Amino acid sequence: MWCKVYCVFFLSRTHNSCVFVISASAQQGEVESGTRRKVKRLLSFQRYCHASRLLRGLVPHTPGSLHLLDDDYLGQAAHMLSKVGTWNFDIFLFDRLTNGNSLVTLMCHLFNVCGLIHHFQLDMVKLHRFLGMVQEDYHSQNPYHNAVHAADVTQAMYCYLKEPKLAEQLSPLDVFLGLMAAAAHDVDHPGVNQPFLIKTRHHLASLYQNTSVLESHHWRSTVGMLRESGLLSHLPADISQDMEQQLGSLILATDISRQNEFLLTFREHLDNQDLDLQLASHRHFMLQIALKCADICNPCRVWELSRQWSERVCEEFYRQGDLERKFDLEISPLCNQQADSVPAIQIGFISYIVEPLFEEWHRFTEPSLLSQTMMGHLHKNKARWSCLRCAHTPSDVQAHSHADEPNPKGGGGEGENIP
Ligand SMILES: [Zn+2]
Repeated sequence: MWCKVYCVFFLSRTHNSCVFVISASAQQGEVESGTRRKVKRLLSFQRYCHASRLLRGLVPHTPGSLHLLDDDYLGQAAHMLSKVGTWNFDIFLFDRLTNGNSLVTLMCHLFNVCGLIHHFQLDMVKLHRFLGMVQEDYHSQNPYHNAVHAADVTQAMYCYLKEPKLAEQLSPLDVFLGLMAAAAHDVDHPGVNQPFLIKTRHHLASLYQNTSVLESHHWRSTVGMLRESGLLSHLPADISQDMEQQLGSLILATDISRQNEFLLTFREHLDNQDLDLQLASHRHFMLQIALKCADICNPCRVWELSRQWSERVCEEFYRQGDLERKFDLEISPLCNQQADSVPAIQIGFISYIVEPLFEEWHRFTEPSLLSQTMMGHLHKNKARWSCLRCAHTPSDVQAHSHADEPNPKGGGGEGENIP
């Protein structure tokens, strides 16, 4: 079992500075870890109350009260939220400033600024309970598929929903569904892909008959948490059921094995210029596309952020490869650390998955400063990975050039292994 280090921040009133109290422990038994979980949950709720009141400007400072983050941290997090619609938003920094609560904090803020709490008459306690469950159900030990990825996708989704071509047509329900789907689209992700679940005969694979196994699980888990929290319980049953179905359709669209299906339909709509965003069905299709873009937008971020995501996703692949090696299973494509380099994986991913989709997104949003910025980063990042790949020996490049080749079916191939 891995050693865990718990960090608790509290405010030192005397010195008015942030003090880290680090209690390190390893293998100290279930009872203590259970207590810690409870404390963590309690602290998390208190932190939320403080943060949300602070962000709404209701309680600037109460001497003597319990604060879990230095006001400087919350001040910086609040400052970042004022720029949440900008493309260079550093979600890693935001996660540190919110002490690992980036998803809850971001969603509460976005629901507030988008007027969704008021429009749907949402109960803030239920909303927080739901978001807390979603955030907790992400596996923090996954290098890539964790709550920070969900927060990153949500922030990107917010940027895309603000694109003038879309924003003018979207209803509050569209915005609600878009943000919810982004926040929950990978919930309870195990850190391994569908082929791994199938070949190890995981119960989820048989439950969902080997089709969109992970995405179906993300959706069903979300529905379970929605019902458990009672977030939509005040709405008529047919409305909340429709919302659950639409969330499912959005989350299932992130199944990368359906990439070509969506890409071809999108291209056809743009060629025929027949997208009518007055139609709910067309708006729903564009939400699916926007979510797909948000899910794979890492290479469109500024290099420093993009590189971190690339390393994280490859680390997750390699961990799967190590597991496969350990259990004498065939090592999945892109999961062999000795054979599949990060630059080679990234170049293949950008060339065959990201670029084709974002070229169409650029066409749809034109003229869009954001799309221009994203395409600029995409091309620069690809060139940078190419340079880094050249640093590998020629024999390495030749031997492993398969990472550049697309797998048209995605079944167990490269397509399975992207965010
Ligand atoms: Zn994802």
